[in-house]
Amino acid sequence: MDFALTATEQEIRTRARELAAEMAAEAARLEREGRFPEPVFRRFAQAGMCGLALPREYGGSGFSYLSYCLAQMELAQVSPAAALLVHLNHSLVGMALSRFGTPVQQERFLPALARGEALGCFALTEPGAGSDPGGMATVARRQGEVFYLTGTKNFITAGDRAEVGLVFALTAPERGAKGISAFLVEPGATPGLRLSPPEDKISLKGAASVTMHFQEAPVPAAHLVGAPEEGLKIALTVLDGARVGAAAQAVGLGRAALRAAVDHARQRQQFGQPLSQFQAIQFKLADLATELEAAALLTLKAAWLRDQGRPYGAAAAMAKCFATDAAMHAALEAVQIFGGYGLLTENPVARLFEDAKAGQIYEGTNEIMRLIIARELLKS
Ligand SMILES: Cc1cc2nc3c(=O)[nH]c(=O)nc-3n(C[C@H](O)[C@H](O)[C@H](O)COP(=O)(O)OP(=O)(O)OC[C@H]3O[C@@H](n4cnc5c(N)ncnc54)[C@H](O)[C@@H]3O)c2cc1C
Repeated sequence: MDFALTATEQEIRTRARELAAEMAAEAARLEREGRFPEPVFRRFAQAGMCGLALPREYGGSGFSYLSYCLAQMELAQVSPAAALLVHLNHSLVGMALSRFGTPVQQERFLPALARGEALGCFALTEPGAGSDPGGMATVARRQGEVFYLTGTKNFITAGDRAEVGLVFALTAPERGAKGISAFLVEPGATPGLRLSPPEDKISLKGAASVTMHFQEAPVPAAHLVGAPEEGLKIALTVLDGARVGAAAQAVGLGRAALRAAVDHARQRQQFGQPLSQFQAIQFKLADLATELEAAALLTLKAAWLRDQGRPYGAAAAMAKCFATDAAMHAALEAVQIFGGYGLLTENPVARLFEDAKAGQIYEGTNEIMRLIIARELLKS
């Protein structure tokens, strides 16, 4: 077993670390204001972060998924929202297209996604179908060379700004979960698609969550991704990979919380000495550092399995579940170590605390991750 990173992996991590440092002040301001982190996303995109493991022939860099995860661990430290937007382009829409798209779809949509010149969104969740996407109600009715989509998708990250969305709908409603297909939808060019204003949420305010209402919205048949009724397989395959990236974001977020807690514990004096001199505080910091190290190792192992073409669904679920729980714990304890100051919104740990919660929910809740892990255990 070799824990050493290759020269390329080290280089990508360094590049992402430098980028994060360069954008830290602006990211902090935008995150504090809960605004779409456009300049941060653009800078990350210019530096190639949206296409790291996407194919070279379509604007990506063709690096390993492990390299992408190393980069996400850095970017998420300064802007979890911008890191999530990069992730949508790269690991949700981009990965889906590079694996399941036709050459024409890849040619048309992948380069702009890989370069971050266009934003992508992934529309699976519905008001009646969250953890159980197989229970979706959105239908796609075919008439000649056009599908007409009717239904509602909610919690769609970047749905308000995306130039292209991967949208899931039933083409064979009588077959339930086995009747779902995947489509590329261009919101700006789709009559019959209406967007609600972004949700007012406490987490990841810079990455808007939007409801998309489809009413007989026409989508060309050429925008069907994969085979008809292959949609659930596409969604679950893409989510397996994306969860490893979500775990990497959580590691980054957790490290940012831990670093802030360490700095504060060193500097804040009570009872005539720095907080860092109290063993109760040291033990908290030691536990958090250990959990985040374990989270990073689980994440990199899952990414490595994926890069090797080996089965990694349960490993991805373990990484996502453990890393997002570790990030939540780190943010919670960071707030505690800051005392009352930890609750002030001007303070980064307050925002990290809010953002950490979303990680335990999106791309499959941690209860669903535990179900995936248990299913694998009980299979053998
Ligand atoms: C910030 C954010 C961004 C998101 N972005 C997107 C996006 O871009 N695209 C998209 O399609 N969706 C997105 N989502 C939606 C997200 O994937 C869903 O919220 C999530 O899958 C859970 O669905 P739900 O909210 O309907 O909860 P429910 O499915 O109603 O679950 C409620 C609770 O019950 C638990 N539960 C459900 N079923 C079981 C079970 N079988 N066993 C045990 N416990 C169970 C859940 O774990 C949870 O705790 C986003 C969500 C958030 C918060």
